[in-house]
Amino acid sequence: MTEIRIDDLPVRDELRGKSPYGAPQLDVPVQLNTNENPYPLPEPLVARIAERVAEAARGLNRYPDRDAVELRTELARYLTRTGKHPVALENVWAANGSNEVLQQLLQTFGGPGRTAIGFEPSYSMHALIARGTGTGWISGPRNEDFTVDVEAAAAAIAEHRPDVVFITSPNNPTGTAVAADTVLALYEAAQAAKPSVVVVDEAYVEFSHRDSLLPLIEGRPNLVVSRTMSKAFGAAGLRLGYLAAHPAVVDAVQLVRLPYHLSAVTQATALAALEHTDTLLGYVEQLKAERDRLVTELRALGYRVTDSDANFVQFGKFPDTHATWRRILDRGVLVRDNGVPGWLRVTAGTPEENDAFLDAVRELMKEQER
Ligand SMILES: *Cc1c(COP(=O)(O)O)cnc(C)c1O
Repeated sequence: MTEIRIDDLPVRDELRGKSPYGAPQLDVPVQLNTNENPYPLPEPLVARIAERVAEAARGLNRYPDRDAVELRTELARYLTRTGKHPVALENVWAANGSNEVLQQLLQTFGGPGRTAIGFEPSYSMHALIARGTGTGWISGPRNEDFTVDVEAAAAAIAEHRPDVVFITSPNNPTGTAVAADTVLALYEAAQAAKPSVVVVDEAYVEFSHRDSLLPLIEGRPNLVVSRTMSKAFGAAGLRLGYLAAHPAVVDAVQLVRLPYHLSAVTQATALAALEHTDTLLGYVEQLKAERDRLVTELRALGYRVTDSDANFVQFGKFPDTHATWRRILDRGVLVRDNGVPGWLRVTAGTPEENDAFLDAVRELMKEQER
């Protein structure tokens, strides 16, 4: 049989020769490569999910609540409680992971003939979702230390006049938080240039030393804050992301969302998880302490480490990043090679997992000394 590849099919030109998002899912003892929360959901929450899902199952002959009103109300309550800014149902929208939220935003504000900018290295999915929605991608600059250079970033916005601006804070894969002043300066630059929509991706904000940028949505209808339950809530398998913005943004994304996109099972599960917010945020505190320990110990070993506000740490520098990644993997620990030359990223796991990782890199150091 002749082998048929993607490029033999009549796929869209911009998809030709491209690769899908593909963090390796390898079966190794210590998996610290995709910024997941290492703690399984607590048993009382698992029981509550079973209860709420059973309830939802009795109504599965019907379509789910298209507007996810109860869930959005609870997400608004959570944001109000933790984000130092009051938001309500009409400010919040939810979808299957924040990736779907971002896709809906690009379908609404990007698309063919339009462009989006991100300051790289940053979350690779921003560029991939842009491509999938036919949005042109512009790679904006970042400083050597991975902070955002406000002047250079504003200049890139003024030059390219993008329709969508992504600001990831804390940034993935570097862990770098972005100051509110920087976001405001780039928002002003984006409004002067176009005006365009500024998406602040706060997937990791619960792990940050800084407050959420949520209050910035006040009086700025073109500013969107995107969030997820995949990281802090320890529910990557749930697929629940959400945004907070002016109610007009929530109305706008409904023009592109598929009807009934959030299943009744997803809504029930997310609601159960939100009932256990305090327990889950307790794990976040433990992970922040472990993140700080990784930073301290890696620096003590002589590695360079980027300051981190997330649940992961970027460390280096290595002459051959991929070879180092492999040697850590050979010791049973999977970290992430994000393609940032010289740097690797490790997710903060349980204390035992982090010890295993630190033992592995300690051995690497010793080998190099020999
Ligand atoms: C993990 C991550 C997301 C979350 O994606 P989900 O679809 O919600 O799982 C979004 N943005 C960034 C920067 C991330 O690292």
